[in-house]
Amino acid sequence: MPERLFVCTPSKLGTFIDCPRRYRYSYVDRPTPAKGAPWAHNSLGASVHTALKNWYALPADRRAPDALPSLLRATWVREGYRDVEQERGTYRAAMGWLKTYVAGLDPLAEPLGVERVVATKTSVLAFNGRADRIDARDGEAVIVDYKTGRSGLDADDARGSQALALYAWAAQKVFRRPCHRVELHHLPSGTVAAHEHTEESLARQVRRAEETAQDIVAAERAVAGGADPDAEFPVNPGSLCSWCDFRRVCPAGQEAPVREPWAAVEHLGS
Ligand code: SF4
Repeated sequence: MPERLFVCTPSKLGTFIDCPRRYRYSYVDRPTPAKGAPWAHNSLGASVHTALKNWYALPADRRAPDALPSLLRATWVREGYRDVEQERGTYRAAMGWLKTYVAGLDPLAEPLGVERVVATKTSVLAFNGRADRIDARDGEAVIVDYKTGRSGLDADDARGSQALALYAWAAQKVFRRPCHRVELHHLPSGTVAAHEHTEESLARQVRRAEETAQDIVAAERAVAGGADPDAEFPVNPGSLCSWCDFRRVCPAGQEAPVREPWAAVEHLGS
């Protein structure tokens, strides 16, 4: 029998790389262990992403900054904020980012895809992922990923992102055109961090993804064969623990400093 392909998204692979125990809690243990409260920064990110998706769904002649208030209001996710005042302040900040951002976009330029799922396979994995935007520029596809976090990003972040590389690799297959450029669009600062991949650097990231997939399959098989799940999916304590959905159920996470659900938006919401 041929080996079954490991079905994965960038977030599934990234979760295992960050912390195998978090991977187990997210994808293996059923029922899924109880998660902590929703995070305000996730609400903010989802709201902004959906508003931009819907901006591109408008006819080109209506893609203007004055369309944004109704788009953001319609997609605004309210979970995780400390209070209404903080939520309103964050909404105002998000609206400001979006106005600046869309003012720099060509409303007539139709991307190849917006929140577009790209999927492809190797001999080891079946990959699928939803890219925020895939632009068509000079005969090539360009991967665009929106970021709304506090800290800015640089070219090293774009170069090192396995998710962006996998999107580029899959986009080449799906659109049958070259795709080497990946970009992180940081809305709070209005900056773009970019990297030009080569065929070799894309192939390297695909090989790494395959190795991660093989590690995950080996751990899952070991557990199915009776091995200790805690040993096969070890904890990886660090700064991520305070932001981990499973902090309260994880022995290592309980040692980490507690963050309020709104901690990452506190600077925006007053
Ligand atoms: S709390 Fe830390 S060690 Fe535990 S699952 Fe989350 S990231 Fe991993």
